[in-house]
Amino acid sequence: MTATETEAPEAPEEQDPWRLRPSVGLGILAGLAVIGTLLAGWLGTLPEETHFEIGRVVFGNIPHFGIVLFYFTVAAFLGVSLLLFAQRAQSWERGAWEQRTGQWRERSKKLIGALMMRTVVEDRRAGTMHSLIYWSFVVLFLGTVTLELDHLAPTGLKFLHGPVYQAYSAILDLAALTFLAGLGWAAIRRYGQRPWRVRTKTRPEDAWILAVLAAIGVTGLLTEAARISLEGQPSFEVWSFVGYPLSNLIPEASASGIHQGFWVSHAALFVVFLVMLPLTKLRHMMTTPVNLALLPRERPKGAMREMPNLLEATDIETVGAARVEEFTWKQLFDTDACTICGRCTEVCPANLTGKPLDPREIVLKLGQVAADTYGISPTVSVDAELTVSSDLVFERITPEELWACTTCRACDEACPAGLEIVDKILDMRRNLSLMEAEFPSELGSTYLSLENSSNVYGADQTTRGDWREELDFEVKMLGEPGVTAEYLYWVGCAGSFDDRNRKVTISTAKLLHEAGVDFAILGPKEFCTGDPARRTGNEYVFQGLALQNIETLNDLGVEKVITQCPHCFNTLGNEYPQFGGDYEVMHHSELLMSLVSDGKIKPKSNGQTVTFHDPCYLGRHNDIYVAPRDVVDAVGERVEMPRNGTKALCCGAGGGKMWYEESTGKRVNIERTEEAVATGADIIATGCPFCFIMLDDGVKELGRDEDVVVKDLAMLLEEQVLGD
Ligand code: SF4
Ligand code: SF4
Repeated sequence: MTATETEAPEAPEEQDPWRLRPSVGLGILAGLAVIGTLLAGWLGTLPEETHFEIGRVVFGNIPHFGIVLFYFTVAAFLGVSLLLFAQRAQSWERGAWEQRTGQWRERSKKLIGALMMRTVVEDRRAGTMHSLIYWSFVVLFLGTVTLELDHLAPTGLKFLHGPVYQAYSAILDLAALTFLAGLGWAAIRRYGQRPWRVRTKTRPEDAWILAVLAAIGVTGLLTEAARISLEGQPSFEVWSFVGYPLSNLIPEASASGIHQGFWVSHAALFVVFLVMLPLTKLRHMMTTPVNLALLPRERPKGAMREMPNLLEATDIETVGAARVEEFTWKQLFDTDACTICGRCTEVCPANLTGKPLDPREIVLKLGQVAADTYGISPTVSVDAELTVSSDLVFERITPEELWACTTCRACDEACPAGLEIVDKILDMRRNLSLMEAEFPSELGSTYLSLENSSNVYGADQTTRGDWREELDFEVKMLGEPGVTAEYLYWVGCAGSFDDRNRKVTISTAKLLHEAGVDFAILGPKEFCTGDPARRTGNEYVFQGLALQNIETLNDLGVEKVITQCPHCFNTLGNEYPQFGGDYEVMHHSELLMSLVSDGKIKPKSNGQTVTFHDPCYLGRHNDIYVAPRDVVDAVGERVEMPRNGTKALCCGAGGGKMWYEESTGKRVNIERTEEAVATGADIIATGCPFCFIMLDDGVKELGRDEDVVVKDLAMLLEEQVLGD
């Protein structure tokens, strides 16, 4: 090696992006915890000089060597617990770098929300049960810390005596009772009621966790009872309203030995708990709040993970994620934050309709591969025969699971622990598609259409603007001499070539014209945004289309874009900035509603009932729920489906599924159409070309097209603005 080579700076990608590796941080914390506990032990084993009339002697009836042993044991187990977490952190650090710093205000809010259990209580029953355990645990933990602080404090600063001690005793007994009640409820739910999502993932560790926690609560109360008996049941101890009556069961003569026995059991169970934390799913007590704080990110919800320019790169060895180290550290950390609650599975349209996909299993299988290849315990224990021989996730996750996903984001939205499941699925699809050429056969012709015709239908691009022939006014075309416009109307492939959706385009154009909006289209210069290719993992085709579109838009100086397609809306607004395309993009419902509000178009109500189907890429991916409903309210009487807004069920077309067959189980569009029809609405309104097709097909397949009609919001509005 030459001197120049030795002195050359590291290439940026070779530099360690971590300022402080979490594993190192946890290792340091382990050392500090041990030192801190031993210091507390040194102070705590000094003879207690002060005795208050109303109060208690900490470590009373415990021999000196027992107290010393206690501090040493707690220090050792605390250190081991944190070192086991550090070992898990080393496993997370195998993943690729992903930025999750900055946005501290948002992160703090998420962390506070997590500590307040906000996401957990969204499920009322499970949330209440969890809250009972969690809040009482917090009180008991803080109570123990308070007792220790008071014990270590110099005489003049001690506060846990007199009425304060009595209130403290009552609060801690109440917390202990609540804790046990919550654990009882959890046991009944898991082993009595056994709802599907709990039953299917109940493992021996669940029983152990419940048993150890309950034993900690029970031995705590019994230790208290024995102590009160030993002290001759002083009257002020009646404030320990559980421990005091229990003390009647323990004869004063034998109370000393019984007290020591319970005290040792209580302390031993506590150190067992410390080690169970990193080794079992109990770890979510630590990882879930952190994961929620890590949730805010620069990349919008609807944008897939950025990739280098595949058209120019020459040194890319792999695309997407197939091996543990090809996932990001955050994606690996996610698996340790999973509480195995199954809320994701419960809302998954693929799972609901009998497809082989279960989002919880995706998380657990990735967690297992990551854990098994690093020699740590998996996210949740797995059957012994389910072994893995390498860090290739496809040993456990099948292509059929991944191709069943509609990328609807319902799982991410429902997850109380803030996991990002869709990202993982899409990264694995990228690998399947580009590295293994393993994708549904129908996608082959879709990619060909995109590459050869620049649109997903394989139609003649020169006919993109032909829908204008049905209008009695001119629509400008950007790029023609002298043409400028405030808005580019991005029509999309469906709006240009699909017969049903051309009606939406015509309605939108008429409304914009009526309101005097200055708009123009691109016509043949508009290529597919590439969404179908990107969502099915073909980043190469996506980038080809995206870069061409961005060049066109930038050359024409486009700033504002309107589109009726949420997929185009999402790709243009959220993903093109990754490649240098920055535009202000509006969904047509947003602009149309503002035109109604400004009085530029004046709809009359049709008096009919309308139910609105939230497109996933408008709602969950982009948080647009109000504008479409305002449009509906302006023209009819809105009735909501049971699953609406953030909880809406997908139509089945997202994630590129519009372009390949659904061969297993019930069709998702039928499931959704049945729900829409069951509202009794006259009209099913949509705001997406693919939802429109799926629901319209659904209504016809159910034989309900005589009494229910499916319409895009623009069609509805146009009828009520320009109709007779
Ligand atoms: S994105 Fe939708 S279809 Fe895919 S796993 Fe999540 S809930 Fe299921
Ligand atoms: S991914 Fe989230 S919703 Fe799914 S089981 Fe894990 S914690 Fe629950």
